[in-house]
Amino acid sequence: MAKETAAPGAEQIGLLYDATLCIGCLECVRACKTDHDLPPEITPDLSATTYTVVEKKGEQYIRRLCMHCIDPTCVSVCPVAALTKEPGGQVTYDWSACMGCRYCVMACPFNIPRYEWHSYNPRVQKCDLCIHRTSKGGETACSWICPTGATQSGPREELLAIARKRIEDHPDRYVPHIYGEKEVGGTGVLVLSGVPFEEVGYDTDVIANAVPALTWKVMKKIPYVIVNGAIVRGGLAWIINRRKDVERNPEAVDDRKKPSGKEGGEE
Ligand code: SF4
Ligand code: SF4
Ligand code: SF4
Repeated sequence: MAKETAAPGAEQIGLLYDATLCIGCLECVRACKTDHDLPPEITPDLSATTYTVVEKKGEQYIRRLCMHCIDPTCVSVCPVAALTKEPGGQVTYDWSACMGCRYCVMACPFNIPRYEWHSYNPRVQKCDLCIHRTSKGGETACSWICPTGATQSGPREELLAIARKRIEDHPDRYVPHIYGEKEVGGTGVLVLSGVPFEEVGYDTDVIANAVPALTWKVMKKIPYVIVNGAIVRGGLAWIINRRKDVERNPEAVDDRKKPSGKEGGEE
């Protein structure tokens, strides 16, 4: 049901984040906010108003943002094609098509999309790989501002070659793993680290294969009409009830992993 899929062989835009070069200045986070007209407050975790975060993990900083999967689960599970894999590889979201089912939020293997729980017209929010820039050949706001070159953007194949060469030239500095080269079938965002990825909060158990293939193995067994009818009814009922809840009690936020106070939801 994806609206559009990158044509085979089309150049996938990517982003390389080298954690060993990152000084934690947060310029990337600020530039992202300015460029996307988001409020300047930086939330500690990803939120509906913070599309990327930089965390200190031991002696190293680490960034998180949408991985722009080559075969994105969020796109494949969306019943109304509100998420799109663009020809350049950016995974984007169309609010006007979204019915608020949050399948994308639940399906993302990297726990990235956030939902505007407080809004009367809630949207799913996440990094869009600066499509307004990268679709015209420009670089992302976060790579443009980065003072150390820790974040850079460009064609994924070129970034992969850079990452491989860095590991080859400096085996003492990097763990021999380019995160995103193979995870979930490959991602547009690639990460280098000087310490094992599991120590900086990156899931190394995430499956190697593209998740959508597995998703559809299950979903295609359910008749299309039943699935869509149920989803539309469920989604509409959820939106109506949610808006009533917010009207009655604006503080009643129902984050998807609220007990930990860390995952999901707006800040
Ligand atoms: S990281 Fe999650 S939100 Fe981003 S493209 Fe992949 S599945 Fe979609
Ligand atoms: S690529 Fe663009 S939208 Fe994504 S984190 Fe960087 S500045 Fe923000
Ligand atoms: S701008 Fe560059 S150096 Fe600064 S926190 Fe972001 S990635 Fe790290």
